[in-house]
Amino acid sequence: MTNPFAWIRPEPHGIHVVPADCWIDPSQPVANALVTHGHADHARGGHGRTVATPATLAIMELRYQTRAGAMPVEYGETIRLPGEVDVTYVPAGHVLGSAQIVLEHAGERVVVTGDYKRRPDPTCPPFEVVPCDVFVTEATFGLPVFCHPPIEHEVGKLLKALTDHPDRCVLVGAYALGKAQRVIAELRRAGHLEPIYLHGAMERMCRLYEEFDVALGELRLVGDAKKDELRGHIVVSPPSALNDRWSRRLPDPITAMASGWMRVRQRARQQNVELPLVISDHADWGELTRTIEEVNPAESWITHGREEALLRWCQLHQRRARALALVGYEDEDD
Ligand SMILES: [Zn+2]
Ligand SMILES: [Zn+2]
Repeated sequence: MTNPFAWIRPEPHGIHVVPADCWIDPSQPVANALVTHGHADHARGGHGRTVATPATLAIMELRYQTRAGAMPVEYGETIRLPGEVDVTYVPAGHVLGSAQIVLEHAGERVVVTGDYKRRPDPTCPPFEVVPCDVFVTEATFGLPVFCHPPIEHEVGKLLKALTDHPDRCVLVGAYALGKAQRVIAELRRAGHLEPIYLHGAMERMCRLYEEFDVALGELRLVGDAKKDELRGHIVVSPPSALNDRWSRRLPDPITAMASGWMRVRQRARQQNVELPLVISDHADWGELTRTIEEVNPAESWITHGREEALLRWCQLHQRRARALALVGYEDEDD
């Protein structure tokens, strides 16, 4: 092919790797899928063959009850696809198993980040900078207003609420894949060794993390505990359970929510969140722009969020960039 990068084509339902007839994070079932990580907007069921890291495949199996067509690839291992496309999965630092996909063909290298962050996370290996020609980057928090505080600061707020109110419990809303385990692991790192209570919907994903050697300390189920036992303890539930009937079984809970969107006061108010915790598994504005500088690609393709501001930043910094219009990426994982 004569056009540079003509072999990789952004289509509305995914990025098409033409010579290999593979799709990256396709939003529809396809014959051959390359999946960056287990969040539902990236990892859908029903593909003929799915190439992903072992942890991502285990997460998909937990969610879709099938391993059919699973093809594991370890971080750093290169596999050759039909059409002479070499593929390497590299850590993205987003959630357990998350990867950037590095594609090489005809002397050109394309990196697709999937979702990523640059902050340390005890539940997954850190993002690796891979120089490339085309860098396909997410932009979930692609506005200068988004500057995530250090996680120690947010975990400190959570622990202070707990000690200030020994007769209550703190109920933390956190996404079941990634955020919940990161919050728990960070609480352990901060020296909180008490049992942490889980909503039943979080249990299997936490166990899966433990099977992949992420230590989460003592976890108990809310369903097995008496109301008084929960006083002075942390309870973790999916965000959807914060305001539903389930939470009535808790002793006077202080409602917290761990999300990058908690930076936006209105969002916290809408969800009746008393204690907003700005904890995100996505790169903030500073991380997005620093990463483009470090990767230093010939072209950046921006997707998955607020493309316009990052596009403008690239133009102001004399960097070639374009916004992709992919559909179907609704974050469950902010
Ligand atoms: Zn994600
Ligand atoms: Zn995503």
